[in-house]
Amino acid sequence: MGFAPAENRQRAHHHWEAYLILSCIGIIVSSGPVYDASRLVLHAGEPGIAGEGAWEPLSNHVVRPLLAGMAPGFVATAGGVAWWAHNLSVLVMLNFLPLAKHFHVITSLPNVFFRKLEPLGALSKQDLENATTFGTSHIDQFTWKQVLDMFSCTECGRCSSQCPATATGKPLAPRQLLLDLRDYLYAHQDEVIAKRVRQRADGDGAEPPEVGENIVGPVIADEVLWSCNVCRACEEACPVMIEYVDKIVDMRRHLVQEAARFPNELTRTFKGMETQSNPWGLGAEKRFDWAQGLGVPTIADKPNAEYLYYVGCAGAFDDRNKKTTQAFARLLEKAGVDFACLAKEELCNGETARRLGNEYLYQTMAQACIESFDTAGVKKVIVNCPHCFNTIKNEFPQFGGRYQVVHAAELVAQLIAQGRLQVPPGFGKKTVYHDSCYYGRFNEIYDEPRTVLARTGAQVQEMRRHKQFGMCCGAGGGRMWIEEDPDKRVNLLRTAQALETNPEVIAVSCPFCMTMLSDGIKAKELEDKVQTLDVMEIVAKVAT
Ligand code: SF4
Ligand code: SF4
Repeated sequence: MGFAPAENRQRAHHHWEAYLILSCIGIIVSSGPVYDASRLVLHAGEPGIAGEGAWEPLSNHVVRPLLAGMAPGFVATAGGVAWWAHNLSVLVMLNFLPLAKHFHVITSLPNVFFRKLEPLGALSKQDLENATTFGTSHIDQFTWKQVLDMFSCTECGRCSSQCPATATGKPLAPRQLLLDLRDYLYAHQDEVIAKRVRQRADGDGAEPPEVGENIVGPVIADEVLWSCNVCRACEEACPVMIEYVDKIVDMRRHLVQEAARFPNELTRTFKGMETQSNPWGLGAEKRFDWAQGLGVPTIADKPNAEYLYYVGCAGAFDDRNKKTTQAFARLLEKAGVDFACLAKEELCNGETARRLGNEYLYQTMAQACIESFDTAGVKKVIVNCPHCFNTIKNEFPQFGGRYQVVHAAELVAQLIAQGRLQVPPGFGKKTVYHDSCYYGRFNEIYDEPRTVLARTGAQVQEMRRHKQFGMCCGAGGGRMWIEEDPDKRVNLLRTAQALETNPEVIAVSCPFCMTMLSDGIKAKELEDKVQTLDVMEIVAKVAT
């Protein structure tokens, strides 16, 4: 697979505007010392001029000696030319900046100042009862901050160079997406301004029609939007804090909720969530089958348990991930944690639906899930899935669900520190840890899984892309449920990156990462040499 060239291809991008602005900057920077040096030469010996020179070291020590031996007339001409060139360049630049891509020089600072202050992992809540539109399909429907983002791009390409979709040759390159939106906005700016003026004049009058055509499809292709892993790598890389995730999900919301256009395979996913409360569509009554024979307490048995262990759909229904769930439940019991499960009453929290743009389904499921927590009197929740963690911690508060949410590595680290769990360093295998996007970039949980792994005696290695620059496994943003071209699989690229460290074990802390990376190892026929294990499975192997 030709991943490397694709990964880099979006960085090189040149335009005549860039050369004009760079020329202006070059002239401004170089003409100043020439003008100052000419003054120092022509007025040498006059009172105060030596002191002035002390404040102009470049002019005084580099340019002045070059001009000192020249005829006074030439020096005066050089100084005059430098003065005009300097000031004209400043004027050209100031006039040109608001009209061209270098507008970012003005907008990037406010863009950083007005960055999102809500939790990074919380998508915006749509007001489904009062909304007249259900997603973003026209250029004037973007928020003022999203428009500020469009003007603030420096076109550096860092976003695209970190994007797993770009790296695997998919049609999405975040910088291009933003520039396409910005160019369309420039082309329709007069109409957008006229609409805003009309709205002000009309007050509460009828909503004027949207500006321009529907951009989703003609300007931003459906495939571009469906290629996104909603992983935030682009945002982390951006020097001016441009936000992509909300824009992409807003346009997906239009596709799903207004246009009913989405990959065919998602029909089954949405139906499974609606009817069986899990994206696989497996019988809801099987949700607690993983616990057979383990004696795991249920909320019905222990209504006053301190913690609810919320397993989530992958940990409850997927055969490989059920093993992780069982290992973690055994650890909880070994440490004497006072916990219980909702068992068959547990409901999906709807995370996948929200990232796929099906906000209506998400809100319905989230509210039902919160109701099930509240009915059971839940206050503290343990999870071993970063997607569930992010949704319950950061998004449930939008619907009144406020709980203390603890992730598995954090809890296990506490249990070890309290001496409730003995973890002798017996694992000893060369282990590379893959950061999940939703513990990592969205919630900045990097250290606890590594600390816990180190306690097991694992020889922890790092991939060249790790922590905030880690790469998605390919499952995020609901892409777990979307077919992927065999030549463009993100999981294969991520597996290849892990294999560069020659590991015996790839450690994960997410059930989706488990599926994607173990599939990657299978595809490379390395199952005999490299194991894919959840951090909690590794702890369970050595814990006493
Ligand atoms: S969120 Fe991830 S997949 Fe989507 S554009 Fe950004 S880097 Fe690419
Ligand atoms: S990283 Fe930020 S500034 Fe650079 S191209 Fe991407 S969006 Fe623009």
